[in-house]
Amino acid sequence: MNPELLSLYQEVIIDHGKNPRNLRSIDNAKSLEGFNPLCGDRLKLYVKVDENNVIEDVAFTGSGCAISMASASLMSEHIKGKHTNEAEKIFHAFHHLLTQDDVNDIEHDCLGKLQILSGVKAFPMRVKCATLAWHTLDGILHDSQDAITTEDEA
Ligand code: ZN
Repeated sequence: MNPELLSLYQEVIIDHGKNPRNLRSIDNAKSLEGFNPLCGDRLKLYVKVDENNVIEDVAFTGSGCAISMASASLMSEHIKGKHTNEAEKIFHAFHHLLTQDDVNDIEHDCLGKLQILSGVKAFPMRVKCATLAWHTLDGILHDSQDAITTEDEA
């Protein structure tokens, strides 16, 4: 990646890490806690889905490292207004982006701005920080009753 683009990406990540978007709770929404014991990142995700399974609102509370906050912030902006099936697809594409080398064009397309987090792949410890919000989202979409921990997940 060229250095100018890389530093631009880093600025966006730092900005979202310092000033996370949608850092609040939502009344009458589904919620679930997520925890990354390796880093100490802890968040609670709120997702409000309308009768057509479209994500009407998404927000989170909690605290963690800049990567976990930036990823949750970027995720909240990206999945708002999307169908839950689409959000699920984006989760898998994002997970793929951070763990595999062969991301296909369809995945690139649905990730959009989220691709700025791809640099995290070079730091395996931080992958769990970046995917925490997403695993928690996946838990909510599957009606998980238990808090999500990244302990046994890649
Ligand atoms: Zn972290």
